[in-house]
Amino acid sequence: MVHDHGVRRAVIALACVCALSAPAHAFDCKYDKDNPSVSLYWPTRTLTYGVVASSGLDPAMVQAAMHSWVGWDCTDLELEYVGLVAESDPVSHVTVVRTGWVADGRPASAVAVTNTFYTPFTGVIGGANIEVNEDLFEFTADAEQTCDGTQYDLPSVITHEAGHFVGLGHTKLFNNAPTDPTMAPQVGACETYMRSLADDDLAGLCNLYPAGEPAGRCGGLPDDARVLGNQPFSCVVGPSPGEAGLWLALAGALVGLGPRRRRAGLAKTCPRVRSGG
Ligand SMILES: [Zn+2]
Repeated sequence: MVHDHGVRRAVIALACVCALSAPAHAFDCKYDKDNPSVSLYWPTRTLTYGVVASSGLDPAMVQAAMHSWVGWDCTDLELEYVGLVAESDPVSHVTVVRTGWVADGRPASAVAVTNTFYTPFTGVIGGANIEVNEDLFEFTADAEQTCDGTQYDLPSVITHEAGHFVGLGHTKLFNNAPTDPTMAPQVGACETYMRSLADDDLAGLCNLYPAGEPAGRCGGLPDDARVLGNQPFSCVVGPSPGEAGLWLALAGALVGLGPRRRRAGLAKTCPRVRSGG
């Protein structure tokens, strides 16, 4: 866990790579760790995922959090829950890690991470797994009902990771306050406001998957000659560029408008970028 000015905050996932020029928005995408101009995206609009049975996670809670990202007017992205799965099943999943979080190369300060599998240079996502850090943190299924001051709200954490799952990185718009978007990089214990998406989250979602239109990008693609000349067409797992330092040993990458929901004016919730993460 991370102590930050006396307040428990933890990194929910990886840091984003900031745009080189002044953006018209604050949201950001995940990027190819070796080619930061290539943002990641799913090639289809219906994304399937399961919950690992041994995780003990409540499938209904996970689905509610994941599906915060669908049903908005400006996007046709859909999420399809396929049921309880095994860790080894070839399907994207949500799970928990109870031992070896750091030993396996994950940042100690992260309450959860999203590992995204994608094709280098194209940024096409083939799968993504969300892992919750039960090794180093304690969680509550509903911090609005019960929270001992040190627990993290699972629905908030999974809603944030679901943003990474669809291809978003951390927003540049945050003040570590309840007004922050869900994709702000830091969450505090007992915070629940990240359960509901903010305008910036939806702008990012719908930039990537605009209804009836091809997937959008957060950056330009390198020229074709360079793409064809440098890399075989294969899938890799790797951390986002911003997290490369923390994930170097792990050959992988962590990895939305319509009617709007009002976020509750509660305490705070998500992650914060730390140096290198
Ligand atoms: Zn994150």
